[in-house]
Amino acid sequence: MHRGFAAEIRRVLVFTAVCILLGLLNGYLTWTLIAAGAIYMGWTLWQIYRLDRWIVAKDPGLPPDASGFWGDIFDRIYHLQKRQGREKLRLQSTLHRIQDITAALPDAVIVLDKRGNMSWWNETASELLGFQSGDRQQALINFVRNPQFVRYFEAGSYKEPITLPSPINDARRLQFQITRFGQDERLVLVRDITRIHRLEQVRKDFVANVSHELRTPLTVLKGYLETLADHAEEVAPQWSKALQQMQQQSDRMTLLVNDLITLSRLETEDPGSNQSPVPVARLLKTVRDEAEVVGGGNYTITVDNAGDEAIRGNEKELHSAISNLVINAVKYSPPGSTVNIRSSTDSRGLHVSVSDNGIGIDPVHIPRLTERFYRVDSGRASQTGGTGLGLAIVKHVLLRHDGKLSIESKPGKGSTFTCSFPRSRVSAAKTEGAKLAN
Ligand code: ADP
Repeated sequence: MHRGFAAEIRRVLVFTAVCILLGLLNGYLTWTLIAAGAIYMGWTLWQIYRLDRWIVAKDPGLPPDASGFWGDIFDRIYHLQKRQGREKLRLQSTLHRIQDITAALPDAVIVLDKRGNMSWWNETASELLGFQSGDRQQALINFVRNPQFVRYFEAGSYKEPITLPSPINDARRLQFQITRFGQDERLVLVRDITRIHRLEQVRKDFVANVSHELRTPLTVLKGYLETLADHAEEVAPQWSKALQQMQQQSDRMTLLVNDLITLSRLETEDPGSNQSPVPVARLLKTVRDEAEVVGGGNYTITVDNAGDEAIRGNEKELHSAISNLVINAVKYSPPGSTVNIRSSTDSRGLHVSVSDNGIGIDPVHIPRLTERFYRVDSGRASQTGGTGLGLAIVKHVLLRHDGKLSIESKPGKGSTFTCSFPRSRVSAAKTEGAKLAN
């Protein structure tokens, strides 16, 4: 038993014994005991009252003086309070330190509660997004009103960051990345990527300008080469091989320039323009007919399962993507092979696969295939006349159509390239046709 409690019991026993003695002496034992009980209860209530006053005091200071059991209780509460105070100070200093660290970050940090209201942000957030101290508990989407951001914020899938112009300065580009934490709270990191964005813009403009500028001199050169080829009999025989090679190389350069122009268009033009439902069956048939010409009639190209679906998008771009895949299948398969183009739908959307039984690709190359100018075998690529840009074009077209490219391949066995489009992009071709006609 605890010492203070034992002392209290002793005190009660002694007090009761004295009261019994007093009661026996004065002949009013019962009344004396009742009076003694009332005194003890009053004294206990007094201690409880002192305890309560002390606990609720703004600045409690030292505990009230008391001996025995009550003294022990006051002391214990006092030590508990002191310990809590120390713990509070420690937590406060940790919190301040974390706030100092996040305040010093070059990126904006915003903490949102479960309703999407801002509960805390650092100084960079105020600079980049113009928050003021009175904006606490306001919804973030009241400040970043860009519809693209609102859609991204409400969709709740934050795997990829989103890049937008700053809501307070159009010239600045900001990248928003959201992470969930705690109980449905969200942490928003905002990075100023204006410099990177400008460099990227310079790169895109440079590629677009160079490709356009190369077009005219190339057309002139090709023109003269064709004229010379038309008058082959007038050209000295030792130049005829050189002439033929110059023609081949200028054709290759034209393909390269055209692909570069296509790529820069895909990167710079607004994907929203020229969107219409493109019937898959018609698209695949056109691509097959063209690929048969490219293959010189040496390949069997089949189209399977083309139903009456349509993909909402840009027909020219979709044609270019599927055509690149089918022409690759022809280029990288021996003559006499079969290339199969297949369209199918499932709960996730529509998939167009191009399969061949050609040379296949070693798995180590697959993750890098859609990089510009990446080739598995550069020697072979120059023979096949590829530009190294075909799959980069496919990737960009799919990005602009919310689609994804997946590649399965086995060296020596063949490859399957699949373009997958989400359900939101797919509709019934006939219905859409009817809608359009109306
Ligand atoms: P290229 O113009 O060289 O064909 P692409 O970007 O279209 O450029 O393709 C990149 C590389 O991927 C090619 O060089 C080739 O090595 C490989 N590749 C693409 N499609 C196939 C295929 N169907 N079979 C085997 N390899 C392929």
